[in-house]
Amino acid sequence: MDGEATALDGRRLRLRVRGAVQGVGFRPYVHGLATRYRLGGFVTNDSHGVVIEVEGERASDFVTALPLGKPPLARIDEISVQPVGALASEEFCIRASEQGRVSTRIVADAATCRECLRELRDPNSRFYRYPFINCTDCGPRYTIAERLPYDRRTTAMKRFAMCEACADDYATPGNRRFHAEAIACAQCGPRLSHEIADIAAAIAGSRIVAIKALGGYQLICDARDEEAVRRLRQRKQRDQKPFAVMVGSVDAVAEIAEADTAELALLATSPRPIVLMRSRHRLAPSIAPDLSRVGVVLPVTPLHHLIFDALSAMHPRAGESWAIVATSANPGGEPLLIDNCEAERRLAGIADLIVTHDRDIVSRADDSVTAVVADRTQFIRRARGYVPEPVRLARSVPPILAVGGALKSTVTVTRGDEAFVSQHIGDLDTAEAIRFFEETVDHLLSTLDVEPVVVAHDLHPNMA
Ligand SMILES: [Zn+2]
Ligand SMILES: [Zn+2]
Repeated sequence: MDGEATALDGRRLRLRVRGAVQGVGFRPYVHGLATRYRLGGFVTNDSHGVVIEVEGERASDFVTALPLGKPPLARIDEISVQPVGALASEEFCIRASEQGRVSTRIVADAATCRECLRELRDPNSRFYRYPFINCTDCGPRYTIAERLPYDRRTTAMKRFAMCEACADDYATPGNRRFHAEAIACAQCGPRLSHEIADIAAAIAGSRIVAIKALGGYQLICDARDEEAVRRLRQRKQRDQKPFAVMVGSVDAVAEIAEADTAELALLATSPRPIVLMRSRHRLAPSIAPDLSRVGVVLPVTPLHHLIFDALSAMHPRAGESWAIVATSANPGGEPLLIDNCEAERRLAGIADLIVTHDRDIVSRADDSVTAVVADRTQFIRRARGYVPEPVRLARSVPPILAVGGALKSTVTVTRGDEAFVSQHIGDLDTAEAIRFFEETVDHLLSTLDVEPVVVAHDLHPNMA
């Protein structure tokens, strides 16, 4: 292997990288690595993933190092290397994405990363307390993407023109936001409809607040306030289904649940799922009537973090941390609300305060619900944070659209040897749910660029 690799040194190599490599900071990462090894060439996105050409003394070192330091959200399925004719290029550049039929993929949404959280709380940062801070390692992806390739112009961010500072970050190799497609700041990006202090005051004042989160609107209220929780349950007409509870940090989990190491680790992963754990029964009883387990989740978006920061600074509680109910805003069990006007209308009788913003949600995605069973992650509901990560099949199949049953529905689309299972859609017993079902099929097909040749469905007349 060494001898073979050395034989490639000094030559120009073309690498094709397949996997989840678009919109995750992969091109900037490649740029940094190539620059470190003093290589010339380029990197670009194309319809199959990422294409790299490198040329220079240490080209084979580059090939070896490429998979090792990849960005956290990137997944490499395959790298192929092929020598090509030398061009004597000395500069390494990032080329614009090429159009064409796509066979790469958009990655799942990721919770606010540690670095962004630090900036969110840093008064000297221009992202200080900005509810839409994100970088190449975190933030919205699948829920704001319209189609491939994943570029700002094909996402809900296309209508926000970058300010000078953001444009600088975006264009500067080595910057954490180099080619971060959803980059935004208070100067140029999406805006929240309300002040964080007012949201915190409403929660502390026993009110029910609707917020526009990553994959849809959520309803939140004080999880220790039985009256508020009971009111939420009545208004949402959700009799027995348990509510998930969000706490501000891993440290606060122990106050409400008995969690083991595996559960805490799963809780803190970037998909940021709800994790079912043993309840200590220290919250409002109406959260999970008669259940021994409680679904716990950590803050997913900068907005969630800001709400917890404001609650603990302005409305501190003696000897305990804040915990809030965070449940999807879907009146009467219908799909999650994502449209601003519809949310205003439908949530008017449920929420006392409706907090919205002007970054559209292109595809709705509920919170994922998981449990740790025998040290493994088990999905109760697979949605935000995991979709559209594919399942690898044993062999390639023709493009198939498979639609599931009417209860707890999901759809699956195949492309080559990958199967993409959609986010949880829910029970198909309302017009709204059917619309969500249709939207999900359209979104999956357009973000995967697949035209199915077969549609698989249940033969039972009520199932199709
Ligand atoms: Zn980040
Ligand atoms: Zn900006």
